[in-house]
Amino acid sequence: MNIDRRDFLKVALAGATTALTTGTAQARPPKELSPDAVGILYDATLCIGCKACEVGCKDANAMPMEADPALEQAEGVQGIWDASSDLDSRTLNKIKAYAQGTAAVKDRDHDGYSFIKRACMHCVDPDCVSACPVSALTKDPVTGIVGYNPDACIGCRYCQLACPFNIPKFEFDKPFPKIVKCEMCRHLQAEGGIPACCAACPTGASLFGRVSDLLQEGHRRLSFKPGERQEYPIHSLDSGDSRSAEVRGYYPRVYGETETGGTQYLLLAGVPFEDLGLPPLGPESSARLSETIQHTIYQGLAAPALLLGGLVYTVYRRTEDERHDDPASQADEEDRRHD
Ligand code: SF4
Ligand code: SF4
Ligand code: SF4
Repeated sequence: MNIDRRDFLKVALAGATTALTTGTAQARPPKELSPDAVGILYDATLCIGCKACEVGCKDANAMPMEADPALEQAEGVQGIWDASSDLDSRTLNKIKAYAQGTAAVKDRDHDGYSFIKRACMHCVDPDCVSACPVSALTKDPVTGIVGYNPDACIGCRYCQLACPFNIPKFEFDKPFPKIVKCEMCRHLQAEGGIPACCAACPTGASLFGRVSDLLQEGHRRLSFKPGERQEYPIHSLDSGDSRSAEVRGYYPRVYGETETGGTQYLLLAGVPFEDLGLPPLGPESSARLSETIQHTIYQGLAAPALLLGGLVYTVYRRTEDERHDDPASQADEEDRRHD
């Protein structure tokens, strides 16, 4: 049998290409939202920027306040100012402000302003969980809460790079640093409580509940007409507490319903979400894409390796007779034996 090296390589290459193409077609299925998944609906049009949620969050999670020495000196008091301007290793929840032009009217894009609450989005298909090589970040199969285990963490900070919302923070100032992010007050929920930010919020801007119910509530609000009065539940959808407020008008979307495969922290606002610093994201999570590529590469490498092994074996068997008849091969065989 005559197989030259060029033909051999052609066959092997064709096999590898076929395997890769087949692998690409087998995308990892999207992660599903658990029916009992819990979340938070933040409605920026109800938020008054009081930051009670930030204080509640600090208290419930034993996070130290960040004092501003200049403000302390100006006011003549000490230790009451939480001066962080964004999420950091001591701040799991941050109320930020957007202002445009004269910033005269609340929840208006032009010449207006809006508040926005930033915290972990508890993604349905979290990139941080996918990126963590030691499963220090995990998603609870029932509640969907993305939790963190400091004992497993090796400090690689891949989760920070992977998160599309720039949420996980790192304790650079500690000798044994940890990753820090909102875990939806799972310690309070384990005792039948609700997240501290929702318990502290006086207006219902931060509302706790099952994600499916919160989505329904979000769409109910999107059907409201600006200027009419409506009842808004406060603290939690199950609390039975509510308050009446004038509808300010909504940007027509629930942020988090589809972004990056969906999130359990959902947002409503009167201005476009991009203006509030939320990234425009498609419905596919990067975790799904990257895991699909990884699996494809593994499959793609395994298949050509098997193919190559099979071809080598076939060629070896088929050329066995030729090698026996060939005097040069016999001489080689003789040399090997003497060596
Ligand atoms: S927002 Fe970031 S840190 Fe939070 S679950 Fe999603 S990927 Fe992870
Ligand atoms: S759920 Fe808990 S940890 Fe997360 S932002 Fe609210 S209070 Fe902070
Ligand atoms: S407590 Fe409620 S109203 Fe006050 S800043 Fe937080 S979300 Fe807004």
